[in-house]
Amino acid sequence: MSFQFEHSNSTWVRYSEYEWKQAEDGKLYLTACADAQPTIYDPLKEYQQLVLDALYIGRLGMRQEQDDTEIQDEIKAFAEKYGLFGLMTALPTTPSFMDYEAVYLPKNRFIKKETMSTEDYLNLFFPFDKLDVVKRSVESLWNIEGDNMMMALAMTMSDRPMAVNMSFQRQYAESYEWMKQVFTDWAFNATTVFLYYNDYDKLDDDYKQLMRQSIRAFDGNAPSYHIELLEQPTLVWDFHSLLLGIQMMLSFMLTDKSNPMRVCKKCSKFFVASRPSAVFCSPRCKNQYNVYKNRAKNKQTKLRNKI
Ligand SMILES: [Zn+2]
Repeated sequence: MSFQFEHSNSTWVRYSEYEWKQAEDGKLYLTACADAQPTIYDPLKEYQQLVLDALYIGRLGMRQEQDDTEIQDEIKAFAEKYGLFGLMTALPTTPSFMDYEAVYLPKNRFIKKETMSTEDYLNLFFPFDKLDVVKRSVESLWNIEGDNMMMALAMTMSDRPMAVNMSFQRQYAESYEWMKQVFTDWAFNATTVFLYYNDYDKLDDDYKQLMRQSIRAFDGNAPSYHIELLEQPTLVWDFHSLLLGIQMMLSFMLTDKSNPMRVCKKCSKFFVASRPSAVFCSPRCKNQYNVYKNRAKNKQTKLRNKI
């Protein structure tokens, strides 16, 4: 794939360990463990694996009978590899919402209100320990004290919008229901794109129309950008959430003609095809599929001989 985001501001924070915790509202949240260590990394460097890992969880979420504990284990492992989504900065009209009097929200599937007080909004992502933030009109004052590691992290990331920086703090949490929904939506859309072309001749026109409409509704806040005066004026993309980064990468992978994303004929996992005609994710799946097919064929012949 020709990479479109040569210069980008996409570094993200992941903690060494996360845990599921129930909040007072009865909902389950994923948050970093008390003694977990934060690391800064660039998710765009390993974007293909990141997208495939996300789709794997989404496929689990799509199954009606799927046990939630397995999905929770997978989401926890995902966070330990890549960090939390940054839903807090992905949903509002701007990741710099701390510079405004309130939080403004475009249409999304999680929050119906178009605007919320900053305090109420922050409570959705800090259901356990709150950050020491004082909000007066457009001014926000954030006081970090006590935890040296959190102070160092905030200093390192001080060029990012305040809310992004706040979402890197240990106290930040994301709801299970919301995370599962995001993963499932991605997998649903990727599956729709795959089936639309794979089964094109078998699908009736109404169903195809429905699929086209559903994909058209798959959009999101675009990343913002700025210009930096390097050796030459350079366009730099700003990803202010992992969620937006994954969504953009997924969109590029879904529209990549030379290395399309496909569902393996044997194991049903998504993979990036090395050539457009590939149908198996690995030589192993290809062999297993052929062995299985031959066995079935032999059985049929034996049966026929008996008759
Ligand atoms: Zn496979």
